[in-house]
Amino acid sequence: MNQEQIIRKRDGLLAQLPVARDILRGSLLDRTIRHSKGCKHCESGGGHPVSVLAVGYPGGQMRQISLRKAQAAHVKECLANYYALKAALEEICELNQQLLRAKPAVAGKTVAGKKRRGK
Ligand SMILES: [Zn+2]
Repeated sequence: MNQEQIIRKRDGLLAQLPVARDILRGSLLDRTIRHSKGCKHCESGGGHPVSVLAVGYPGGQMRQISLRKAQAAHVKECLANYYALKAALEEICELNQQLLRAKPAVAGKTVAGKKRRGK
């Protein structure tokens, strides 16, 4: 790819960048909550299925947030948005790296290193 193609590809990615408003990092887990006392449902061997958002932090820290039923679908969407946005940002960074190395399309060549005297 030449400089122009790289720029076109990058700007194309920018134009369809996922919105950064509804985003969440982490993973959605299915857990079963069991009450120790006073719940007929749990005493009969059942449990309560619940979705949990698990978010990891540097150093191995983990935060878990129990979600209400109505929240699970929204969280799932936010996770997808985040990872799509992240992937797009990575790709833009890669293209910008290529741009650093690409030969300028119009400008003349610059010679790295020592300056040449005269001609
Ligand atoms: Zn219960």
